[in-house]
Amino acid sequence: MSDFLSHLECGNCGEGHDAEMLQSVCQRCGGPLLARYRTGDPRLPGLEDILSRPPGQFRFQEMLPHRSPPLTLGEGGTPMWKATAIQGNPWIKDEAQNPTGSFKARGMAVALPRNLELGAGRFCLPSNGNAGGAAAAYGALYDVRVEVAVPAGTPRALIEESRELGATVTIVEGTIADAAARQREELSDHGWFSLATLHEPYRVEGKKMMGYEIFWDLGHLPDVVIYPTGGGTGLVGMLKAFDEMEALGWIGSDRPRMVAAQIEGCSPIVAAFGSGADRAVPWAEAAETSAYGLRVPYTIGDQLMLTGLRRTGGIAISVHEHETIDATRMIATRAGIWGSPEGGAGLAAHLKLLEAGWIAPDDEVVLFNTGSALKYLDGPTTQHRAGATPSAHPVTGDVDSSSERA
Ligand SMILES: *Cc1c(COP(=O)(O)O)cnc(C)c1O
Repeated sequence: MSDFLSHLECGNCGEGHDAEMLQSVCQRCGGPLLARYRTGDPRLPGLEDILSRPPGQFRFQEMLPHRSPPLTLGEGGTPMWKATAIQGNPWIKDEAQNPTGSFKARGMAVALPRNLELGAGRFCLPSNGNAGGAAAAYGALYDVRVEVAVPAGTPRALIEESRELGATVTIVEGTIADAAARQREELSDHGWFSLATLHEPYRVEGKKMMGYEIFWDLGHLPDVVIYPTGGGTGLVGMLKAFDEMEALGWIGSDRPRMVAAQIEGCSPIVAAFGSGADRAVPWAEAAETSAYGLRVPYTIGDQLMLTGLRRTGGIAISVHEHETIDATRMIATRAGIWGSPEGGAGLAAHLKLLEAGWIAPDDEVVLFNTGSALKYLDGPTTQHRAGATPSAHPVTGDVDSSSERA
């Protein structure tokens, strides 16, 4: 519990902030605030004690911010399988098995109750769909109002889910950035607390648990972790988890090489990484993609991600839409997981990096299926699938041949 929470610190400029007050972004520079814990406290349980607890998001609750135990819908503790029929035998952590079918539940399960206990009363967020559904679920659990703004073209299941769970949904022309701008004017400037990505400190705290779980699942850290990156909460969260694990004395200074996978039509982090910049430039025209969660033209997590990727010897890489769709299908036909296109983008990045020799055949690689395919049934993935005859486009896993088609 928050016995061990010490303060908040800006991830960009280092400015300290009070963790017992409701906070959004850094008051000095507008950067994302990160929770800091007293990792040297002798009352903290050891690794063995933690592993003897049941798995799940709240297994290591001392590294989470709440004063009182949060309610849960059963987040985290997701299974991780080795995909032996896929080149390089990557592990796939199946985050679709979270409540509301995506890992967005991890963040919301922590952020909504924590901000509620600090005095927030009603919540708003822009979303490409999954974050809205997750926020709606915890809004229902805690009986508080949630307003979601989604870009036009968001698949119907994602919108219906938020509505059925009791949230109000507004559809906005443009991208998630336009939805965010609209909400700032209409809601967050008028007493609604924004749960927008990295605009409050605690969604990261939920998502960082993926970093702890990878370590617990394997008994060590892998060589490479590939993350389909939108706003970057998960990447920032896992980097933070590894730093905490080092401070706790569980690991040394070695890190997995962290990879941010984005799609070609919207890859601000890849562009900044390639140019050596430490900040990303907002992506001017975010292309339509089946991987909705990756259609994020701008995030305030850019600096943390770019620093983290470089510090771990990692990389940012973009994949083409049809590579994403082929890889999504490969996860289904070769790993038995009918997953989201964002997860497919991660596998497409893996195949490209393997081909390029950046990943060695014996490197241990962790991928994620970040969401459930069921939510995307009326999205472009299925339209592409309907238009593509599988026999004409066999899934070979050969990145070169897949980029020649179309
Ligand atoms: C939000 C989302 C992502 C991207 O996660 P971030 O941590 O925001 O970068 C990937 N996949 C799915 C299914 C998502 O909903």
